[in-house]
Amino acid sequence: MIKDLPSKEGEQVEIKGWIDTIREHGKLIFLEIRDITGTVQTLTTAKDETNFATAKELSKESSIRLAGEVKPRPEGTQNKDSLAGTVEIKISELEIYTKCPPLPFDIDNEELNEDTRLKYRYLDLRRPEMQENLILRSKIIRIIRDTLYEEGFNEFDTPILGKSTPEGARDYVVPSRTQPGKFFALPQSPQLFKQLLMIAGFEKYFQIAKCFRDEDLRSDRQPEFTQLDVEMSFVSQEDIINLTEKLLTRIWKEILNIDLKTPFQKISYDESMKRYGIDRPDLRKNKNDPKEFAFCWVVDFPAFDESEGKEKIIATHHPFTHPEMESFNKDPLTAKSIAYDIVLNGTEIGGGSIRIHEEKIQKKVFEVLGIGEKEQQEKFGFLLDALKFGAPPHGGIAWGLDRLVQIILGAESIRETIAFPKNKEARDLMTDAPSPLSTQQLKEVHIKLDIPKKKK
Ligand code: ASP
Repeated sequence: MIKDLPSKEGEQVEIKGWIDTIREHGKLIFLEIRDITGTVQTLTTAKDETNFATAKELSKESSIRLAGEVKPRPEGTQNKDSLAGTVEIKISELEIYTKCPPLPFDIDNEELNEDTRLKYRYLDLRRPEMQENLILRSKIIRIIRDTLYEEGFNEFDTPILGKSTPEGARDYVVPSRTQPGKFFALPQSPQLFKQLLMIAGFEKYFQIAKCFRDEDLRSDRQPEFTQLDVEMSFVSQEDIINLTEKLLTRIWKEILNIDLKTPFQKISYDESMKRYGIDRPDLRKNKNDPKEFAFCWVVDFPAFDESEGKEKIIATHHPFTHPEMESFNKDPLTAKSIAYDIVLNGTEIGGGSIRIHEEKIQKKVFEVLGIGEKEQQEKFGFLLDALKFGAPPHGGIAWGLDRLVQIILGAESIRETIAFPKNKEARDLMTDAPSPLSTQQLKEVHIKLDIPKKKK
């Protein structure tokens, strides 16, 4: 790899990669070659007819293989910005794998229109900044995995084709071919499955989980996004908080070399609303300091809330959150819940709760939410059944991973942290999804279209 070249002075090497830049100086051609580890300068002269002719034919971003001797670069011409900037390669063999036509845009141009970048995302991702972003995301996920495995967690995946779970957003739905008129819903989160894994006895679960919510895309949301999803049995709120702080501390240390001070500050929902008028306060002293990270926990949320039009009672977190029993027994509507949000610089980066493990309390909460007996059985019969069979007390948390990576990177948009994001209209401009289905496909899934006419 290119990063290893400085230790190979005097040796014959072979490298494979892309043409980053081409500089022609009459009888001398410099090719800057890039692989995933860095860039290196290579050169060929007119004396070497074959390779010089091949080099003349080359264009930026073509993929190539070359061989040659690693030589020190003369003092003063070294490139300090590059890991292999102290050496260069005198080309002895040069082979073109794929010649690149003129690029649809200049990949070095930072001001580029985002839709163009998304259409040619594979080229956009060749930019070093984008490669760094995604590699950093991978490193963060690795730290999470390493830490959680050390802590005795197991990683399980849960179904994508599922039944709607009420996380509060609109579902993405998938028609069933074999059961006409029935639909799967894509998971808004693995919430009920992780609870069922606790009932199954696994005690410590996590997943880097894809979640789907069909919401209007405010500037910085994605219809599919990634959560770190965690659940544990026989735990209290404090256990989940400690684990979260441990993970975040390790990420901040290993990625940013910053020592976070724990425990993070805790503030009750009421206090936060009273003091800051918001349930995700930004506690930074200097909001212009990109190195300042102010974490806090918001706790003691009200269990229930009125929906926007006030005609309905909704769960503040979700309907499986354990209410605080003293207040719940007095008056469910003003009860607190055992739920907690982790807030960083005014952004909610995660949230969780202790869950209801008692069938009776779960049914009572459904009632408060206006979900009658019949609907309870239709929608959640499997959960109510499962709770009967020795369900352990359990709780957990989920983090929005894309948002967390964005904050660590200081990136402007969540899309800078995702390899293939959708644009603001929830379209994938590269593959052109969503796209129409053929009449045959529609027939197979028993769907007739009823598309509103475009307003003139
Ligand atoms: N499932 C919840 C969510 O996605 C998080 C949790 O309670 O663990 O918001």
